[in-house]
Amino acid sequence: MTGQANPFESLQSQIDEAAAYLDVEDDVLERLKHPERVLETNLTIERDDGSLERFKAFRSQFNGDRGPYKGGIRYHPEVNRDEVKALSGWMVYKCATVDIPYGGGKGGIVIDPKEYSEAELERVTRAFAKELRPMVGEDRDIPAPDVNTGQREMNWIKDTYETLENTTEPGVVTGKNLASGGSEGRVEATGRSTVIAAREAFDYLGKDLEGATVAVQGYGNAGWIAAKLIDEMGATVVAASDSSGGIYNPDGFDPVTAKQHKNETGSIVGYEESEEEITNEDVLTMDVDLLIPAALENAIDADLAEEVDADVISEAANGPLTPQADEILAEGDAFVIPDILANAGGVTVSYFEWVQNRQRFYWDEQKVNEELEEHIVDAFDALIETIEENDLENPRTAAYVVAIERVANAFEEAGSFP
Ligand code: NAD
Repeated sequence: MTGQANPFESLQSQIDEAAAYLDVEDDVLERLKHPERVLETNLTIERDDGSLERFKAFRSQFNGDRGPYKGGIRYHPEVNRDEVKALSGWMVYKCATVDIPYGGGKGGIVIDPKEYSEAELERVTRAFAKELRPMVGEDRDIPAPDVNTGQREMNWIKDTYETLENTTEPGVVTGKNLASGGSEGRVEATGRSTVIAAREAFDYLGKDLEGATVAVQGYGNAGWIAAKLIDEMGATVVAASDSSGGIYNPDGFDPVTAKQHKNETGSIVGYEESEEEITNEDVLTMDVDLLIPAALENAIDADLAEEVDADVISEAANGPLTPQADEILAEGDAFVIPDILANAGGVTVSYFEWVQNRQRFYWDEQKVNEELEEHIVDAFDALIETIEENDLENPRTAAYVVAIERVANAFEEAGSFP
């Protein structure tokens, strides 16, 4: 990461940016710029050697006007209060952009999971679930995976919650594995929406996806699935990176075997189809048709933005551009599909998982993917309509205009208490 932007300030400036195009009172907007509440807690667990260790953890519930708070839980040494607040706000506007009946929340633990055994991670996760218990629930707040968490952690949270509540409530978290009440298509959903949105953008811009060159920054769940699916759509993935560095092959490489290499060795670097080892910055500034940032926020700051040479950017990661970078790119030629639309597949299929959990009736993968396609295409169409109606330069502003209007309407219809 090269940028220093505070992600919470980035979120607020994105809302301010959209405000000019909205018929929403300032006092209502002010409310929509701050979380309703943030839990800060310290978890102390026993290490395998018998010593104790303390971990700071957060859960932010940003806004619940359109439904229960919804959002992932991140494990990372750089997790902090403002980051969690920002991520929870982005969830509000993401759920509204794709029109699913949720508010937004987010959580995180300050931990580098690579340094701990599976048993220690289970204890940390269950300790966090115990702290979260009063504030989560199918109709209250529904956690999900984020960076460095996945099905395993969601299963632990669900089990802890159900044990303490003496109930069965699979919809208390999403992103579970199938045996624990997960949904078909959930693991691929974020990468899938990233590429559906990219395909729609190419279509809108009159560009051909067949043979288009693609660079992917971050080769975790979101990035590698996006690489695989865009390759299946006929594009050519020429570059990718992870936290250890990047790979490049001008003729393209197979995203699936690249992922196998990462699974076996811990990194994409050293993959045999790579012709050249490059840096993360090289991946972000490469002359490609499509760039998919899929690592962490602030990956592209103002300096890097001047060098970005992609025609379309589909933001799999949350907040990958600093506000300054966003401005620079909006003034240039790149079409940036904002995170709150591009990566909304994850929360959309989480919503499908929750619906299935509540109905105790499960869909096949084809139905999940068809419903996802419909939500993302509808959201993209609403984005284009708003861009054209308001003559907007920046698609992100258009997404916030759509989303804030929906959240503000829900608030104004309901009125306020007390
Ligand atoms: P992940 O932990 O599976 O993968 C993260 C990847 O980024 C890893 O390959 C890591 O090596 C790489 N990375 C970290 N720092 C890097 C750097 N400086 N340069 C290059 N690569 C780097 O996480 P994920 O679930 O794929 O999430 C990635 C992003 O997508 C996050 O911003 C997350 O909030 C967002 N997102 C994920 C989902 C989801 O369903 N997984 C949903 C919505 C948004």
